[in-house]
Amino acid sequence: MFDSDFTIPPHWQFASSIPSGSEAVIVDIDGVLANASKRQHYLEQRPKKWQLFFAASAEDEVIEEVKRLLELLDHKVVVVLLTGRPSAIAELTVNWLGRNSIRWDLLISRPDGDYMLATKFKEFETKRLLDLGLRIHLCLDDDPSNVEMYRRLGLPSLYIHSGYY
Ligand SMILES: [Mg+2]
Repeated sequence: MFDSDFTIPPHWQFASSIPSGSEAVIVDIDGVLANASKRQHYLEQRPKKWQLFFAASAEDEVIEEVKRLLELLDHKVVVVLLTGRPSAIAELTVNWLGRNSIRWDLLISRPDGDYMLATKFKEFETKRLLDLGLRIHLCLDDDPSNVEMYRRLGLPSLYIHSGYY
């Protein structure tokens, strides 16, 4: 798919091959595809219970509207899931996506040990996707800072309200 001199980072996972120059959408997971509201209480504890918070994501309910929206997109449009979840739970995430029959092509999780602000991380990865020639048409996120960042990059972005992020 991408130039042969591009090494696929270990925190990128593919469900299918992506022809270069593909049209794409970028979709967040928590608060956009996955209803994470039932595990927010782990983050209200001090210290925050991150491990339990992420482990509980296996039980998240699907946000049906966004799942349907992805199904309605032309199947030539690549679905990139760009999430602040650590790659330590990438397998759990892939299983959840499969169990819930959610359409996706590339999952980008946060490298383990990366404590960059989520918005900085997403900006870095988005610029990399643009450099690789992906034609990104739309981004979906429930964090207003991410929506703003995408718009700053000139990418139309749709805010999905979750009430947490
Ligand atoms: Mg989110």
